[in-house]
Amino acid sequence: MSRLVVLGGGESGVGSAVLAKVKGYDVFLSDMGKISENYVAMLNKWEIPFEQGCHSEELILNADEVVKSPGIPATAPMVKKILAEGINVISEIEFAGRYDTAKKVCITGSNGKTTTTSLIYHLLEQAGLNVGLGGNIGKSYAFQVATEQHDIYVLELSSFQLDNVYDFKADIAIITNITPHHLDRYDYKMENYVKSKFRITRNMSSEDCFIFCSDDDITVRHLDQIVMKAQKLPFTQKEEVKQGAFVKDDRMIVRYKEEECDMYLQELALGGKHNVYNSMAAAIAAKAMHIDNEVIRNGLATFQAVEHRLEKVLSIKDVLYINDSKATNVDAAWYALECQTRPVVWIVGGTDKGNDYSSLIPLAKEKVKGMICMGLDNKKLHDSFEGVVPEIHDVTSAKDAVNLASQIAKSGDVVLLSPCCASFDLFKNYEDRGRQFKEAVRNL
Ligand code: ADP
Repeated sequence: MSRLVVLGGGESGVGSAVLAKVKGYDVFLSDMGKISENYVAMLNKWEIPFEQGCHSEELILNADEVVKSPGIPATAPMVKKILAEGINVISEIEFAGRYDTAKKVCITGSNGKTTTTSLIYHLLEQAGLNVGLGGNIGKSYAFQVATEQHDIYVLELSSFQLDNVYDFKADIAIITNITPHHLDRYDYKMENYVKSKFRITRNMSSEDCFIFCSDDDITVRHLDQIVMKAQKLPFTQKEEVKQGAFVKDDRMIVRYKEEECDMYLQELALGGKHNVYNSMAAAIAAKAMHIDNEVIRNGLATFQAVEHRLEKVLSIKDVLYINDSKATNVDAAWYALECQTRPVVWIVGGTDKGNDYSSLIPLAKEKVKGMICMGLDNKKLHDSFEGVVPEIHDVTSAKDAVNLASQIAKSGDVVLLSPCCASFDLFKNYEDRGRQFKEAVRNL
């Protein structure tokens, strides 16, 4: 019996362990940290031996193969030892892909992954297909392969999840865009990060489709340097294209083979220039899956925003409160500000990951009437925006931020939480930050 060791006891690791169990491996799971209760219960239920709080070499280095969870870097001491022993290290996606014959639509990119993935899932579901949603979102892909049966998967893949894929093949791959992110995991080399994203196109043949943003210089530059067998389908807001998607006047037009599908931008459920990109990417994927135009139009018009992504919370005294807590980098906040048509009270700040705020200054000057910095250290925000926006305040809780924002905002304004920063100084994670914000709004 082949021995498979899984490193990491989160959604991805436990899903892999369950799949290994179902496929008859001698499986063992090891986590250096504490495994949360629900996953412990799951491991027990599936009778999977595991350890937490340590990595026991004698139980790990006898593996035939190791599945590494995406959160564990390749430089972790245990991973180094495993590699030094010559043991194959793969990702959950690689492992589950071996047992899955479904068609796969895979999405990666720096921003817009979850939105685009959810849009595509929505379109395929609306078309009545038997489709699973997984990867970085919801239930792990491996767990679904172990316990469910789908004809198609729509998978959101982070670059960490792509790092250890080798034979995995997507039928349709999408890169939404590429901006510097998580460079600490890539030796601070942009090139390594870009290559990691492009791993999503590995093994693709001329039957497959690669969907990408041709307005994104980094993507286009890399594409020019490599050989890509898959059919290239760009989406752009700058020019007309023969195949792919583009914007003409007030419409979005998708062309795939001999077919064309068009739709008024105003009808799209998700507002903002960035969501035009996401909607175009989703529509091309749907067209490539032979979904009817009517289903695509209806689906893109009825989609409900994903929580914490430009999510409209409530309108109180004609002030609209928007939760964009997932905007943890400058690029995401840029798009959030860009699409606002009303004066903005902007709640921003948190753990700064080396941000350069300069690209936000013109938008802040034009749209922001008041800024509320919600973080433990707001100095950089003050330095960047003093003299740019009329008033800047500091708070250390979502409740104070919302109360203060409600005093500054006048009828017709927007209160936008789009922090540009990670949440770890004051909150557990971005979900916690978004929920506390919404709770405070509801209590106004
Ligand atoms: P991801 O899963 O890649 O983090 P999300 O769909 O969760 O992306 O969106 C994260 C944030 O990025 C949101 O706050 C949203 O406003 C912004 N965003 C969404 N799509 C794009 C895009 N295509 N380009 C730039 N920013 C985007």
